[in-house]
Amino acid sequence: MTIGTGIGGGIVREGDIVDFGDAGEAEIGHMVVMPQDGFVCGCGNRGCLETVASGPGLVNLARKRAQDCPVAWQDSAIAHRALYDARFTAVDLFEAYAQDDAFAGETVRIAAGFIARALASVIQIVNPDVIVIGGGVGTSSECFIRLIAEQTYPLVMPSLRGRCCFARSQLHEQVVTQGAALLAARMLGTNRSC
Ligand SMILES: [Zn+2]
Repeated sequence: MTIGTGIGGGIVREGDIVDFGDAGEAEIGHMVVMPQDGFVCGCGNRGCLETVASGPGLVNLARKRAQDCPVAWQDSAIAHRALYDARFTAVDLFEAYAQDDAFAGETVRIAAGFIARALASVIQIVNPDVIVIGGGVGTSSECFIRLIAEQTYPLVMPSLRGRCCFARSQLHEQVVTQGAALLAARMLGTNRSC
């Protein structure tokens, strides 16, 4: 799973990406996690995971929380920025989260909960050995991955709960370029590993 500007997925089996055809697969970012009052997604649907848990999605979520509870967060500098600063990004949110800001902490926890709901369903369908999380947002904080894991396990049926572990991608933000290079190498018929 890659969490960055959007949220993407891929299923790897015995070292190869499982290919179901040209239409794509593992569109984890477009699993609907907010069916009511969800944000409009680039795919045309509403309430997709990436509208609340990608980089721009975290900004959506922070703005909504600051708007919905203005009194509760009236003294929060980061909530104020989420509402009024057009340059506010997920990087700002994670910086505040790392400094134990309450508004940022709750927002990140809620986003991790949405990701957990999607991943619990993935685990029940695919039963993977490991979920690797990459992307600029996904690898920005070890704590974020831990939050996702903690909220995923209770949602998984008990017999599958202990099998799957979570790992942070070692490719960090390079996951897209590395994947594109590997795909290009394969299309050119070379077997050389990237
Ligand atoms: Zn979507």
